[in-house]
Amino acid sequence: MLSYRHSFHAGNHADVVKHTVQSLIIEALKEKEKPFLYLDTHAGAGRYFLGSEHAEKTGEYLEGIARIWQRDDMPVELEAYMSAVNAYNKGGYLKYYPGSPLIARHLLREQDQLHMTELHPTDSPLLRHEFLKDDRSKVLRADGYQQLKSQLPPQYRRGFILIDPPYELKTDYQAVVQGIQEGYKRFATGVYALWYPVVLRQQIKRMVKELEETGIRRILQIELAVQPDSDRRGMTASGMIVINPPWKLEQQMSTVLPWLHRVLVPEGIGHTKVSWITPE
Ligand code: SAM
Repeated sequence: MLSYRHSFHAGNHADVVKHTVQSLIIEALKEKEKPFLYLDTHAGAGRYFLGSEHAEKTGEYLEGIARIWQRDDMPVELEAYMSAVNAYNKGGYLKYYPGSPLIARHLLREQDQLHMTELHPTDSPLLRHEFLKDDRSKVLRADGYQQLKSQLPPQYRRGFILIDPPYELKTDYQAVVQGIQEGYKRFATGVYALWYPVVLRQQIKRMVKELEETGIRRILQIELAVQPDSDRRGMTASGMIVINPPWKLEQQMSTVLPWLHRVLVPEGIGHTKVSWITPE
């Protein structure tokens, strides 16, 4: 079942949080010269036209990236992320939203490698086309979870793995934990970032408990809620669970998340959270 299309949601509040975290992790890894692998298991189409029928139908980006991208009080923690957004919007108005592969492409260096997988029959060729001329990169139409076995450990023993499934299958909540375990077994020093939506809080509590039970240490949870938890349909919050976060990430997100919350949710409802699921 591949009915999810990220083009309906690109640039929404969840993407803003996800890609802020993604860019801060990449910038931290760049502090050492040694190359690293960026592995994007559920990569999407790469580029999203915000004037498309899909984006216009939901208008989600209007309450996400559109609220922050031209603010003049932007915290420094958003600089790298915004440099990527600006690189795809040269005309001064917001036309495209760069997904995680394009943000990585903009921020990674000559010596780094990108490996991306996307299963959707329409989005996978679009992503491949984006990277035709980039010889640091490999794009496959393949299962993302399999990559956690086949691509790890990376050649240079440095890596950032972004796991961003659509959760249209209930089994994704377990599959991500199993996938992380598989990856971690092979590559325990990698930085793993798992995106999650809060639709039913209970699902996230269960997933977090299962992660705790793996025995993996150094797991940081970052969350931004735009509404209180609810039993009704729809995403009220989203977050990133980061294993082996760069040492500055906790502080950086504790600074920037309240700002993002203020700007993204002017009504002041919801919450932010940066806390350890398991510390050292
Ligand atoms: N990471 C992207 C970004 O931040 O721009 C967004 C990805 S979107 C949330 C999830 C994507 O996973 C969808 O495009 C979907 O087609 C794809 N997908 C679903 N199941 C997959 C699987 N088993 N392996 C790889 N991709 C999958």
